[in-house]
Amino acid sequence: MADCPPPVSTLKWTFEQAFSHSLQPVHLSVLNLITLTMAMHITPSGSGHYVDYVDISFHQNVYYAPGVFAHMKLRLDGWELGITFSACHFLPGHQKCNRLHGHNYAVHLELDGEPLEDGIVFDFVLLKKALREAVEELDHCVLMPGQSEELGIDISGEEVSVQYQDKRYVFPKEDVNVLELEAVSAEMLAVYILKRVTNALTLTPNIREIGVGIDEGKGQGAWTWKKL
Ligand SMILES: [Zn+2]
Repeated sequence: MADCPPPVSTLKWTFEQAFSHSLQPVHLSVLNLITLTMAMHITPSGSGHYVDYVDISFHQNVYYAPGVFAHMKLRLDGWELGITFSACHFLPGHQKCNRLHGHNYAVHLELDGEPLEDGIVFDFVLLKKALREAVEELDHCVLMPGQSEELGIDISGEEVSVQYQDKRYVFPKEDVNVLELEAVSAEMLAVYILKRVTNALTLTPNIREIGVGIDEGKGQGAWTWKKL
């Protein structure tokens, strides 16, 4: 008798119990995936055994295991959340953008991963905090590329001077943020913010990929991603 499969009615009762008592409603969309997986497992095999019935009883072990489910994506929209900043820059070599000008930027974030035992991939609060801190450092600043070979940037006393061809800009030091970048383009700013945010967060092993996008005004922007 020990090798006999449990009756189907017992299996159904187990599922109903799991749905009604053990998991929060917010998890149900994920749980549906589990149910499909388990339904395959409880189909009688050629020998008449119900495979993995024990796993159904300990559904949490299966549910929490990384890699069981297709990845999920978290998205933060900087425009909607007010994760924005205003700054000025110029792009050496560009026909129009080589003159000092400004943008209203918005910073977005995407995170790919699997839900942990609490049904959450990563805490939105922590993501927003890291983004806001990164944005704060750039807001209302003159952004200069410290690794540019086309600019001569000199920080002396309370002033920053920038030489570009026959132009020379002089700014108060407190107004300038010299970034470790070759250019202050949307592309390079995305790379910079992604690195800044990734260093600030303690990303859990269930996270597969993180991406940051930055818009120079609405309608145009650049994204970069990092696989973890
Ligand atoms: Zn620009």
